[in-house]
Amino acid sequence: MGQNTSTAVLEAVNTMTGGAFPMKDPLDAAGSCVFDDKVMAEKLPAAILKRFQDCLISGDPTTEEDQKIIADTLYEWARERGAIDFAHWFFPLRGGGGAVGGMLGAFKQDTLLDLDFASKYVTKPMKACLPAERLFQGETDGSSFPNGGLRVTHSAAAFTTWDRTSAPFVLNKTLYIPCAFVTHFGKCIDEKTPLLRSMDAVKVQGLRLLKAVGLGKDANTMHSYLGWEQEFFVIDAEHYKARPDLVNTGRSLFGKLPTRHQQGDLNYFQPIPTSVATLLDRVQALMLEVGCPMAVKHNEVAPGQHEMSPVFRTANVSCDTNVLFMEVMNREAQKLGLQVLFHEKPFAGINGSGKHANWSVGTDTGLNFFYLGKTEEGAKLFVTGIACLSYGLAQYNELVRCTVATAGNDHRLGAQEAPPAIISLYPGQGFEQYVDSIIAGGDLLGYKAEKKKQPTGCSQAMFIEANVEDRNRTAPFPFCGNRFEFRAVGSSQNCCLPVMVCNAIMAAGMGKLAGMIEGGMSHRDAVAAMYKENKHVIFTGNGYSDEWKQDAAKRGLPNLNTTPKALATWNSDKNSKLFETLKIYTPEETAARQEVMYENYISCLSTEAETMVDMTETGILPACARDLQKSSTANQKYTVPRKVAYEAIVDELEKLKSCLESKPHGDLVKEADYFCDTVKPLMVSLRKAVDTAESLMEAGVYPYPTYEQMIYSH
Ligand code: ADP
Ligand code: MG
Repeated sequence: MGQNTSTAVLEAVNTMTGGAFPMKDPLDAAGSCVFDDKVMAEKLPAAILKRFQDCLISGDPTTEEDQKIIADTLYEWARERGAIDFAHWFFPLRGGGGAVGGMLGAFKQDTLLDLDFASKYVTKPMKACLPAERLFQGETDGSSFPNGGLRVTHSAAAFTTWDRTSAPFVLNKTLYIPCAFVTHFGKCIDEKTPLLRSMDAVKVQGLRLLKAVGLGKDANTMHSYLGWEQEFFVIDAEHYKARPDLVNTGRSLFGKLPTRHQQGDLNYFQPIPTSVATLLDRVQALMLEVGCPMAVKHNEVAPGQHEMSPVFRTANVSCDTNVLFMEVMNREAQKLGLQVLFHEKPFAGINGSGKHANWSVGTDTGLNFFYLGKTEEGAKLFVTGIACLSYGLAQYNELVRCTVATAGNDHRLGAQEAPPAIISLYPGQGFEQYVDSIIAGGDLLGYKAEKKKQPTGCSQAMFIEANVEDRNRTAPFPFCGNRFEFRAVGSSQNCCLPVMVCNAIMAAGMGKLAGMIEGGMSHRDAVAAMYKENKHVIFTGNGYSDEWKQDAAKRGLPNLNTTPKALATWNSDKNSKLFETLKIYTPEETAARQEVMYENYISCLSTEAETMVDMTETGILPACARDLQKSSTANQKYTVPRKVAYEAIVDELEKLKSCLESKPHGDLVKEADYFCDTVKPLMVSLRKAVDTAESLMEAGVYPYPTYEQMIYSH
């Protein structure tokens, strides 16, 4: 009791001072609330832990006896950390409008109490516990989550089941159990399940390839890894609440840029403003407690924009921590009177937000397909791994594009701030030349990646050691020394789908190469053939240039520059077959996912259009009328442009309204195309008219917080 009271006092002080007096040193508390391998090793009998971990490699189920002991141990541990509830935490296919808080997880909190049915008393007293069957599995209604027709209200059951490779943790008095979410028939209706299946595919095809080429002989398993870099804006909660567009759609649908916006990129790496720094420190400490060390935080290019990124982990764990990060950010921001915007383009005219997915594939023995290293084995694997990736990206180019196709991301891709919508591979210019030499008959070994010493020209600061390959910020898939960075992912997205497809295409490449070698081809010749077939996907120039668009078209690389164009390619025979062969999606699941993506797009655009109409009618037009009235006694020079602007708004509004009235129904493809090609241009015109009126309006008459107020609130 005494300790709880003092904790409560500390917590209150901490909240009142906006986190200025942290309760504990975050580094000391690192990992204190996560039930990871280290805790398991301390708490569980060694034989049980060994069996549990062996199952994670073999994929076998944990026995019922072991489940019980693990559940009891987890219960004791969670109670020591103040948990009163537990929750299966899973990732439905969320989407649609209002991605302001990011794609969050779902959970239903259950109490860590039950009646003691074993008791001899008739009245059955209460008993605190976590029964094994409730840890490992949960049941719920799947019909209210997007499911692409895989669940309907009259056959709605769906199940959550613990992803045993992602550790449970305690946060806010709740024991979180990261889970996969499937239907009564085991069909996936979530983000995590296909990712886990793709990790299995990487393992199977990766080990097969290693065997074929005689590398990594002591490897037991193969992992894929992810380190995300999350961009976001932070504004005042008061401003957020006063903007129906932000509340309903996550982005501002109107607003003129202030005279100072991002000229000179002055915000980049500037000191983080105090209020935001308080938030980020607090979140960093909480993430650390639940086992997610944040590696980096900094100001981003646009005013009001920031970034945080953790140390990379296995792909599923990292996807989980990203969702958790968004959840914790939202909650802690609320306590400080702030609002985080995770939308891809909250403000027009300044940079939007992305989520770079740093991704790699390697063995449990430390071999990494994308790290050259210093050994011959490492070098061979590197050249082989990039051959597999170039195959995957060339052969399944559209599929990769689809994973980042959302209404929000359409504002970024191809807009000179994010990679183009054309998917290509940047392994470095030196490596590109090396690929040519392999195709021409050269050896697999010989690519030199030694760091180069470059003088700085002053004696005080020593020479620098530059990486062999430069960075290319215009590429969607650049090489970063020991990983590739998929830069096209949107900031509000769940990373599972993009990483799942990276894994899938890599597994396809590894399987293809292994097949060629198993069929009798030499390792060298097989790699050379892969590069020859897929070299057109390698591009090391400026991805923002117009020439690249033309060059890419000549190479046969698609430029799917809108979401509907991309989504139309998702369910091709080729893609469906790939997923089926790799056991990631059944054809039915592939089709369902496409349906969900279409639905998300349509619901997002229709919410945006309706919000625009509503704001124009209830906020903008009345403000224009007031402004006109005030200016009517003044010089004509001031009244005439106001009248013109007012009329333009009325005009554009009517066009948008009647366009919405005649939208097609019942056909997802037609509806999506209609929103993209017909509704969206009208939204742009209405916005232009409104922003012109704003630029004429007397200060203070505009009915919503302005861009200037919002992005410079700190
Ligand atoms: P940048 O220099 O591109 O801004 P950051 O340092 O901000 O990169 O973030 C890089 C991310 O990549 C971090 O999350 C880091 O842990 C992760 N990372 C590093 N190595 C790997 C790897 N082998 N596989 C996956 N992610 C990695
Ligand atoms: Mg970065």
